[in-house]
Amino acid sequence: MLRKAVSLIIFTLAAFIAYLLINTFSFKSKQHYYPAAEKVAIPETAIQNLATLLSLRTVSNDDPPSIDTAAFNRLDSFLTEKYPEIHEKIIKKTINRYSYIFEWPGKDKSLPPIILTAHTDVVPVPDEDLKSWKEPPFDGKIINGMVIGRGALDDKASVVGILEAIEYLLAKGYESRRTIYFAFGHDEEIGGSRGARSIVEHLKKEGVKPEFVLDEGYAITEGIVPGILTRLAMIGIAEKGFVSFRLSIELEGGHSSMPNDETAIGVLAEAITRLKEHPFPAQITEPVDQFMEYTGPEMRFAEKLVFANKGLLKKVIINAYLQSSATMPLVRTSMAPTIFQGGMKENVIPARARAVINLRLLPGMTVEKAGKQLKEIIHDDRIKIETLPFNSEPGKVADTGAFGYEIIDKTIKEVFPEVITTPNLVIGATDGRYYEEICDNVYRFVPICITQDNINSIHSINEQISGSDFKNIVRFYIRLIQNANSSNN
Ligand SMILES: [Zn+2]
Repeated sequence: MLRKAVSLIIFTLAAFIAYLLINTFSFKSKQHYYPAAEKVAIPETAIQNLATLLSLRTVSNDDPPSIDTAAFNRLDSFLTEKYPEIHEKIIKKTINRYSYIFEWPGKDKSLPPIILTAHTDVVPVPDEDLKSWKEPPFDGKIINGMVIGRGALDDKASVVGILEAIEYLLAKGYESRRTIYFAFGHDEEIGGSRGARSIVEHLKKEGVKPEFVLDEGYAITEGIVPGILTRLAMIGIAEKGFVSFRLSIELEGGHSSMPNDETAIGVLAEAITRLKEHPFPAQITEPVDQFMEYTGPEMRFAEKLVFANKGLLKKVIINAYLQSSATMPLVRTSMAPTIFQGGMKENVIPARARAVINLRLLPGMTVEKAGKQLKEIIHDDRIKIETLPFNSEPGKVADTGAFGYEIIDKTIKEVFPEVITTPNLVIGATDGRYYEEICDNVYRFVPICITQDNINSIHSINEQISGSDFKNIVRFYIRLIQNANSSNN
């Protein structure tokens, strides 16, 4: 009897292992391979122009009067002086003084246009950080081949990359079959409401329906994704939603020598603790599922086995994602308390306390559903919950089978031959979300190289890019435009 049971266990185990292995060995690569494109010679002036743009303090600040309007005005002369071909041949429209739409009319009006977009503003550099920069962040210095300054990666390399590519093609007498728009917002870092949102309103009024839009969001990564040994280009196909809720409470205050059992600060602190103890359920949404489909077959055996059996090992995968604050947001609607206010004086119990909780919503979640869920978890009617006005629903999921994805993928592989590609979910907010109003396929990718060395410099200290990496960005946009024109789509 015992022997029978043991053999049954062994048989089941063997069958289970065989099942895992069959799935692993039949987990086929989804990579398409293309021959490397001819390496276009990019002039050194391209690098100089990037340095010049870095020297303009186009800083987005939450406090509008402190914005350096002169810097944003200089941006206009920068565009005119450095890009004579564009100035002469391309239609430029200025939106809300500092944002721009450029239209390069194509010869074939039956083809839907494409839009390349980036933002010209950058986040501020706090005074206390200045001494940690090896070169001042707004001097536009080039040292040992590195272009150093705020915006080198986010997102001025993309702005200048697009401009250089188009200037290059125009100077060569290249004519575009498809209409190409390129648009630069000036306030992405504070929500994009006067930049990208107005740009899209304008395009919508003009009836522009692009084939696809390409904005920032992901990049080419190296040593960032565990289990992947080559460089990995991630193409954002959706982005998380964004909403903040203000919690406020009024309770009787008084002298701190005679405290009531419950105080405004105490009750609000308990509510925040409850939120921490009851996170939103973790799940694998479509963009993350696709990430596993694309990267899994390229991984080392152990990781490949797990992703090949993701149906069966879903819990294991989700748990692994939840272990780090870098991957957790990919599988969960995250909640973070960002403001807590109450009290003025050490011996007075305040009657009022307020807090703000910021949520990033997974595809499938909505601002309304999240608010309801938050209310249920807090479960205290004394706490008033308000939705703050600046919020966005999670984005549409762009199609990985569409023409746009196909040519972005192809262009990456032609310009960076050793790189593999994958779709993924963008966890931050980008201007790209506004374009979903006029386009189903908004992709989020800039061909900058992100490694363990420079990943923390974005929005931080010593942001920089090498001249040779920057030239590849220009090559990418040149090739992308050529590819967008070569297909019959
Ligand atoms: Zn950015």
